[in-house]
Amino acid sequence: MTAGVRVCRACDEEITDPADGVIVAHELGNSGPGWDVWAHREHADDVELIDPDLLRIMTRIWAARML
Ligand SMILES: [Zn+2]
Repeated sequence: MTAGVRVCRACDEEITDPADGVIVAHELGNSGPGWDVWAHREHADDVELIDPDLLRIMTRIWAARML
């Protein structure tokens, strides 16, 4: 992977517009600081990186905030 190129984790397409990309996770490398995992804004929901139990809790919190 070329440094500086953001690839969508969901569809593997390059994210050409920075405004269209969101960081969905940060993976730790075996050496070094690791890297950010990107996805298109509209594909972020398709990326399954978050622990399902954690996601349930977070969804509950987000839903509560919207009330
Ligand atoms: Zn995508």
